[in-house]
Amino acid sequence: MVPEQPNAPRPDPGPRSDNAARAGDHAPAREEELRAGSLEQRPLESRPLELGPLEFGAVRPEDDAGMMLALEQARAARAMDEVPIGAVILLDGEVIGSGHNRVRTDRSPLAHAELRALSAAVATTGDARLPGAQVYTTVEPCFMCAGALSHARVARVVWGVRDPKFGGCASLGRVLTDPRANHRAELVEGVRADEARELLQLFFRSKREAAKRSD
Ligand SMILES: [Zn+2]
Repeated sequence: MVPEQPNAPRPDPGPRSDNAARAGDHAPAREEELRAGSLEQRPLESRPLELGPLEFGAVRPEDDAGMMLALEQARAARAMDEVPIGAVILLDGEVIGSGHNRVRTDRSPLAHAELRALSAAVATTGDARLPGAQVYTTVEPCFMCAGALSHARVARVVWGVRDPKFGGCASLGRVLTDPRANHRAELVEGVRADEARELLQLFFRSKREAAKRSD
């Protein structure tokens, strides 16, 4: 709270607005009206995110097998000299879509593992929404992928390791658990994380060594 300052000078109220109106200048009154309107709307438009503790769901017995499939996809990415990240989407125990990172090959920032798996999954089901679907991805989804998974209304997202520079679910944002959002998914992390991390570390180490050699 601002402490009271009884001796502080009162702000100059400025010229009376009715004088301005009489002079034919309606702009200040209109501006004030607009400002009042936007203030009324502000609480609805930008409710602040109250960051409670990040909550994760329990690991299920089937998660291990799901993540093994995602890791297979990540290895397929590595074989193409892509950053090794893979994803699969399961519905009622069936794989309905899988994919891996292909950003370099496709020369597209959209070619993330989760988006590719999601495109395949909606092609399989013929529906833009996948309620009940479980997503397995070796790395925490970025904002773009988490947004797409939210639009698809997936039920659960399981990842291996966090992505401190792009992660939109825990590291830098909470796209899939924000209480203000229309849809929320259950999150699980750390499934076969060591394997996901090792794939990434080996990839980036080999890139650094190659860069050193070419110096
Ligand atoms: Zn992504």
